[in-house]
Amino acid sequence: MTASDVQRGSSTLEPAHATTGTAHGRSFGSGRALRQGGKVLPEHARGHNRALLLQTLFHQGAMSRADLSRETGLTRVTISDLVADLIADGFIAEMGMREASGPGKPAMLIDLDRDGHRIVGLDLSGSDAFRGAVLTLDGDIVVRREVPVPDADTLLDAVVELARALVADSHAPVLGIGVGTPGVVDDRGVILTAPNLRWAGFDLESALETALGLPVLVANDANAAVLAEYTFGGAGDDVLLVKVGRGVGSGLLSAGQPMRGAHFAAGEIGHVTVGTDGGPLCVCGKVGCLEAWLAVPALSARLAAATDDAARESILRDAGERLGIALAPIVGALDVSEIVLSGPQELLDGPLAQATVETLRARTLAEFHDGVRVRMTEQGQDIVLRGAAVMVLSGQLGVS
Ligand SMILES: [Zn+2]
Repeated sequence: MTASDVQRGSSTLEPAHATTGTAHGRSFGSGRALRQGGKVLPEHARGHNRALLLQTLFHQGAMSRADLSRETGLTRVTISDLVADLIADGFIAEMGMREASGPGKPAMLIDLDRDGHRIVGLDLSGSDAFRGAVLTLDGDIVVRREVPVPDADTLLDAVVELARALVADSHAPVLGIGVGTPGVVDDRGVILTAPNLRWAGFDLESALETALGLPVLVANDANAAVLAEYTFGGAGDDVLLVKVGRGVGSGLLSAGQPMRGAHFAAGEIGHVTVGTDGGPLCVCGKVGCLEAWLAVPALSARLAAATDDAARESILRDAGERLGIALAPIVGALDVSEIVLSGPQELLDGPLAQATVETLRARTLAEFHDGVRVRMTEQGQDIVLRGAAVMVLSGQLGVS
């Protein structure tokens, strides 16, 4: 590899992005890879080029070595070199010859070996069950398992057993294990606080790595979810995902970068109070928190007490308006283009989302923010599992 390869590799990141819409050199886990890497610059350049090549195949599919050279701006020699290594490592494979469509000899197509490795994803955010899955590198779920949420003193054992069973189900080398959990999680996978699971200052990532002998990445469930929406759901670079379940949380991408915040608590919007009219008492002790209006148990209880459809719609609209009040300053400050809702469709999709849109329009700058979309995710209940897979793809391969 030459210095010019390095230069060209980094300078062509943007064009690659422009052609695919979602391909980037950044990731949730790249900081971790850098943290563990050496300080030798050529090693970083090689890692960067390798990620660029994998990212290109991940988003564009099979192509020839010459196509890859053109798409990435890397030289043919560098491409051949990287391809040979990646074939040896089992990450990419030769797919056969492309039919010649003109003069010149037909070219061998190469692609990610999408069946060569599997990813295990875990979602610890459910109120009744811990869910897990084996996923392909494309984020497709091939095996599912779940266990009821166990007692507090056997939580870790249950998570380890679930992960171990899924690894056994994989029937291919496992690239890593991604975990989405409720609570605030730092950049090393330590759960700073997760009241629902009664974990505080618990290094789940290290505990699982020790028990399972595989790379593990742990993140907050909403932060995992926004990655799924970004990689598999077509979200843009500036997106806010609101996850409504037992609590309310959000995950944020700004310029394609996950936002973590000063205390790793970016996106914790559930305990922002909305309005000055009081409201329900929240579990945190404050009055009128967003969560007290919008979380599924609270909202369902109010709906159950409603006597007719008009009353139900009014309750849903009120919750949507509260959400809009909470989100308007975020839209204004960060200029997000899209808000994605994840949670029960029968609650969120309809009067609630409509009221959120109307409230946002009323409370933000029309010229820039009238076009902010509010939509449901299309990934349903699998969004955290798929986001956990993106964490692994990103952390292990630089792909997202
Ligand atoms: Zn609260």
